[in-house]
Amino acid sequence: AQIPDLFCLAITRVGNLVTVAFNKDPSPIKLNLSVGAYRTEEGKPLVPNVVRKAEQLLVNDQSRVKEYLPIVGLADFNKLSAKVIFGADSPAIQENRVTTVQCLSGTGSLRVGGEFLARNYPQRTIDIPQPTWGNHAKLFPLAGLSVKTYRYYDPPTRGLNFQGLLEDLSSAPLGAIVLLHACAHNPTGVDPTIEQWEQIRQLMRSKGLLPFFDSAYQGFASGSLDADAQPVRMFVADGGECLVAQSYAKNMGLYGEHVGALSISADVAIRVESQLKLVIRPMYSNPPIHGASIVATILKDRNMFNEWTVELKAMADRIISMRQQLFEALRARGTPGDWSHIIKQIGMFTFTGLNSEQVAFMTREYHIYMTSDGRISMAGLSSKMVPHLADAIHAAVT
Ligand code: PMP
Repeated sequence: AQIPDLFCLAITRVGNLVTVAFNKDPSPIKLNLSVGAYRTEEGKPLVPNVVRKAEQLLVNDQSRVKEYLPIVGLADFNKLSAKVIFGADSPAIQENRVTTVQCLSGTGSLRVGGEFLARNYPQRTIDIPQPTWGNHAKLFPLAGLSVKTYRYYDPPTRGLNFQGLLEDLSSAPLGAIVLLHACAHNPTGVDPTIEQWEQIRQLMRSKGLLPFFDSAYQGFASGSLDADAQPVRMFVADGGECLVAQSYAKNMGLYGEHVGALSISADVAIRVESQLKLVIRPMYSNPPIHGASIVATILKDRNMFNEWTVELKAMADRIISMRQQLFEALRARGTPGDWSHIIKQIGMFTFTGLNSEQVAFMTREYHIYMTSDGRISMAGLSSKMVPHLADAIHAAVT
């Protein structure tokens, strides 16, 4: 009998090709600025002390078992995660207008939220910013939504195209879903101001557009969990409906634990939960226990929570300091152009404005690796490497 051709598939490379090239480069001065993960000044991944402490407590607790979690995950984790994003005193939480389910980090929360909307929400269009994290355009269609884009980034100013954004959201179909980055927009590092957020909120509410926040960097932008959640809280405070996908990958350094949450604020929160279970059950039955237990242990204990906020601020501050150092190094070299966007942009990434040829030049001549759109991860930089990067940028643009 003939073997079916099912597996004669073309090889599709998925993942970080820049890192593959970086790993092959034998140069001692090579620098990888493509990775979306925090690195210390020494270029090492960081597990916060408070996470180590929580893990120790979990290991020492002999009463802990490894039974399945419920479909919606660990109850404490869900309750406390909602407080982290919506605020400890959130009226929406107090009035039981929020339902939270533990999901597989930010990605899984977006995917579950997308499928929930495709099944239960009358409007199937989701508007995502242009540009955005590459996975948005891939995961939402698979969840059953059709993707459109709204203008976001303004290349000449390396800032926000606020007029374009307002125009595009004004002409979005009534009730359309709008994907918003809660803070530290990836890949541009460009966020609306609070005044601009207020205008976005008013416009969206007046058109019945449904906000779906992607919160992958809470605390990473400003160093404050509350400040970075402000846009989300503005939308929750007006009493309208809102979805939030939360990730603990960056702000707790729990990348590989893949722990996150989807929260939906709506008057029909209880009915929402039963529909979310119908999405989750056939997808993966129930989520893993370890990462959620680490998070819950930290969020439950006032001292550990405070320790987390201090460690988180230190990560954010190191990133902010890298921005300042790079900006000053370029100024000291008299590098042509206005590089103030390096200190104006927010969060892990800087959209340098370097084009793909300049990026290729920097990789070839200086062994510096970044995505071809000119995005660099500030978290991958160290004081020691700033002069090397500044030399490379200077050479690339002169
Ligand atoms: N959204 C954005 C904007 C991101 O940058 C990322 C991670 N790079 C994610 C979601 C998903 O992250 P994770 O699934 O690892 O939590």
